[in-house]
Amino acid sequence: MTTNFNDFQISEPIKRAIKEMGFEEPSPIQEKAIPVILERGDVIGQAQTGTGKTAAFGIPVVEKVTQERYVQALILTPTRELAIQVSGELQKLSVHKKIRTLPIYGGQSIGHQIKALKQGVQVVIGTPGRILDHLRRKTLKLDQVHTVVLDEADEMLDMGFVDDIETILRQVNQERQTLLFSATMPLAIRKLTKRYMKTPKTVTINK
Ligand code: ADP
Repeated sequence: MTTNFNDFQISEPIKRAIKEMGFEEPSPIQEKAIPVILERGDVIGQAQTGTGKTAAFGIPVVEKVTQERYVQALILTPTRELAIQVSGELQKLSVHKKIRTLPIYGGQSIGHQIKALKQGVQVVIGTPGRILDHLRRKTLKLDQVHTVVLDEADEMLDMGFVDDIETILRQVNQERQTLLFSATMPLAIRKLTKRYMKTPKTVTINK
């Protein structure tokens, strides 16, 4: 039996947005990952781009954040383009729920980002270097973050972000949920999952 989006424990506003985005049924990674993520389990998703992994973590993230004005979810991406794209997808998924998502990346004025952060955003999507910059300036606080997503983790490692990622992860509440998506699973990624994830469930999707 194929799973339907209505089978997931998600609220009406999010279901309505999914419908308006034209998603009729969950993709394989969404079908496997969404229920586990909604139950607050850590997930390692091995999947290529184009499999619908953004919505696989995006649906539970927008479902769980409240409208209270502090950062509750942090998504790390290797590039600014991906940060902008993920932020756009989360905005579509949360069009009927008043939350703010903010992409933060190098190359953009930090003053502009500080101003935007002060308005109170619930989800930050950013590249590791710039996120760390904000943490050092204390213009971003992660103490109330309950969900961290490492998107395209192998790309982030290839770009030399591993130390930044570890520094960031050490600043997020240990009670958090951690989700990691990667097309490949080299040793360095497996080490990260051992060090920073709690009995993760692995979901593998072959395109
Ligand atoms: P990934 O995040 O794996 O790179 P995307 O999220 O970019 O994949 O998904 C590729 C495209 O498919 C996007 O345009 C996205 O909006 C769309 N998409 C994702 N999930 C579904 C679905 N369940 N049904 C239809 N389209 C979907």
